[in-house]
Amino acid sequence: MKCSLCEGEIDGYSADLNRLVIDESHAVDICPGCIDKFVKWQGKRLAVLFPTKAMKRRFGGGVV
Ligand SMILES: [Zn+2]
Repeated sequence: MKCSLCEGEIDGYSADLNRLVIDESHAVDICPGCIDKFVKWQGKRLAVLFPTKAMKRRFGGGVV
C-alpha cells in the first residue's frame, strides 16, 4: 500500500489508521509520517482560526 501524499510505502497499513475517506468515491491512504505532518498543519490552521492561549501553548505559537 502506497501513501497518496508522499508515495512512500506504508508500513503496517491499517484501513482504520491510514485510510481517510472523503466520500463514497474518494479516499486516500496516508502514511504515519504524512499523518504527523497533516496533524501539525491542522494544528497551525486551528491556531490561526482559534487563536486562544491554550492553542498557542499546545501548538507552539507562530500566531500573534
Ligand atoms: Zn506519506
